[in-house]
Amino acid sequence: MTMTSPATPTQLIDRFGRTVDYLRISITDRCDFRCVYCMAEDMTFLPRSQVLTLEEIHTLAKAFAELGVKKIRVTGGEPLVRKGALELLENIGQIKSLHELVITTNGSQLEAMAADLKKVGVKRINISLDTLDADKFKAITRTGDLQQVLRGIDAVKAVGFEGIKINAVILKGRNDQEVTDLVQYAVDKGIDISFIEEMPLGIVAKHDRSEAYYSSDLIKQDLAQTFSLVASLEKTGGPSNYFKVAGTQTRVGFISPHSENFCSTCNRVRLTVEGRLLLCLGNEHSVDLKAVLRANPGNIDVLKQAIIDAMLIKPEKHEFNIHEQPVILRYMSMTGG
Ligand code: SAM
Ligand code: SF4
Repeated sequence: MTMTSPATPTQLIDRFGRTVDYLRISITDRCDFRCVYCMAEDMTFLPRSQVLTLEEIHTLAKAFAELGVKKIRVTGGEPLVRKGALELLENIGQIKSLHELVITTNGSQLEAMAADLKKVGVKRINISLDTLDADKFKAITRTGDLQQVLRGIDAVKAVGFEGIKINAVILKGRNDQEVTDLVQYAVDKGIDISFIEEMPLGIVAKHDRSEAYYSSDLIKQDLAQTFSLVASLEKTGGPSNYFKVAGTQTRVGFISPHSENFCSTCNRVRLTVEGRLLLCLGNEHSVDLKAVLRANPGNIDVLKQAIIDAMLIKPEKHEFNIHEQPVILRYMSMTGG
């Protein structure tokens, strides 16, 4: 009698019955900006040997796709400053079973790269923009140039993507006065916008997260003075709750890790640039896939089994508390936000 091994599952399902079909990959911890909520001013970046190669990232993407992952977001750090980013995106975009390749970027490279991003198969782009005031932009990003980013947004508009969305982190006393202007900007450009509550990831000197906390409810109250927001049942498979700005094409999303827990519908995992598979943004449960990959060159089955096994330690929910010192010491730039 011949023994047959059980078929490898084609879906990733965790202990709580959640299907994981979305992977976010941080392809670099480096960035040309130093946003106050994301990085320390004097960051030490990882040595090259600790960082996944582009080939390793491609192999990992293929392994996840074979396990039912349908959507991959390439992020960072700033993904578009990594040498070879376009080639990597093209390779990931060619994975047959993948439905969607999307990126999150700070916009600094978009003016030059928008057309190529479309060509290599990127479907949707999220661009971070916290303010339309050049001085505040410089203060928040520490090194960024607002005009360069605005030109980048115009470039992606001109090229045309299936979706273009602004991501804005709102901080009390820094940019909370600008939520209406930011939505008006999105309406004028015919694009979407999401507001994100700041998450306590990594310790940042001279920035008190508890003091800077500005809830999604406050933002909604501010916006209601100018816009009529119509609740939408539409979900994009993410933590955003969406509203349509009445009479426009623009959707406004709210990602509210503190004021509205979204963990029960979590469908995602994250791969850090060091090859650590993070099962939850707000917990340290992880598996070192780089070690598995480097110990078993060319053996995608071992890699896939390690990913399947990792689902057993995906936590039920994040434990963020904005009023306490962060327990998660990794920065968002390491994590793949
Ligand atoms: N560099 C790219 C960018 O800025 O879009 C991609 C990486 S960045 C880490 C991804 C997103 O995470 C950005 O929208 C950024 O605003 C957000 N982010 C960074 N640190 C955060 C934090 N502590 N809390 C909430 N969002 C954060
Ligand atoms: Fe760089 Fe993005 Fe982090 Fe800002 S949020 S420092 S742009 S990685």
